[in-house]
Amino acid sequence: MIDKHYPRKRFGQHFLHDQNIIDKIITAINPSRKQTIVEIGPGQGAITLPLLKQTDNLHVVEIDRDLAKYITELDETHGKIQMHCVDVLKFDFHKISNKKLKIVGNLPYNISTPLIFHLLDQIDCIGEMIFMLQEEVVDRLTAEPGNKTYGRLSVMVQSQCKVEKLFHVGAGAFKPPPKVDSAIVKFTPYEHAITKINNYAAFTLIVRECFSQRRKTLRNALGKFLTSEQIQSLDIDPGLRPERLTIHQFASLANLYDDYMNQ
Ligand code: SAM
Repeated sequence: MIDKHYPRKRFGQHFLHDQNIIDKIITAINPSRKQTIVEIGPGQGAITLPLLKQTDNLHVVEIDRDLAKYITELDETHGKIQMHCVDVLKFDFHKISNKKLKIVGNLPYNISTPLIFHLLDQIDCIGEMIFMLQEEVVDRLTAEPGNKTYGRLSVMVQSQCKVEKLFHVGAGAFKPPPKVDSAIVKFTPYEHAITKINNYAAFTLIVRECFSQRRKTLRNALGKFLTSEQIQSLDIDPGLRPERLTIHQFASLANLYDDYMNQ
């Protein structure tokens, strides 16, 4: 452990110390020598060190200069790490390799949603992602239509990836303990699209509008974009709440809107 490093709240620093949980995470990551692995937020190396033993090609992205220096020093005795001391929200993952990346990490929870959207924007270079996140966020990521946690995050992520909750992690596994429970989640981007989305910007817009006020019916939420008759032409009831719609139905609404705009 690094001496005299006081965890920085602004960087969401909660360091893993439970060896059982660390072992379970490494098993879930299932590293192999050939893969290019990128760890977001190595911190004091709880996951980095065991990963180093099982892979030859490890990149890490760390914003905190003190921790980046510490990890770079660790590297001198333990192996080969490519350090990127930058804000991950500004990081271009394409520059690492032309092979698909496995991206892992115990993520800083304060930036988890913008980070997931930043990663979705670069999904073409990602083979798999395994993250520790706030459990409430994992439940939103994996929620199905009709569930009260199903929303914009669920639809946007599930339109591009298979998402699986792997296991729960209690706050006691970290120092200092966070105020929330956590869980490990795995994202596997689809090789072939599960639904046809003609224009991703239109899809993003329609999904955002639908969930901007959850209590509204589709008719009201999409009033500026589609008429009730247009919604009905897709065999979707305009009186439904958006939280009942499947990914395919959101895609159909977005494609119809896109066609209409291109007429
Ligand atoms: N992996 C370590 C562990 O499990 O003990 C640390 C995890 S801690 C929850 C999150 C890590 O992400 C910290 O090392 C923190 O400095 C880093 N971090 C926070 N914001 C970041 C950002 N915007 N870009 C890159 N790293 C960031």
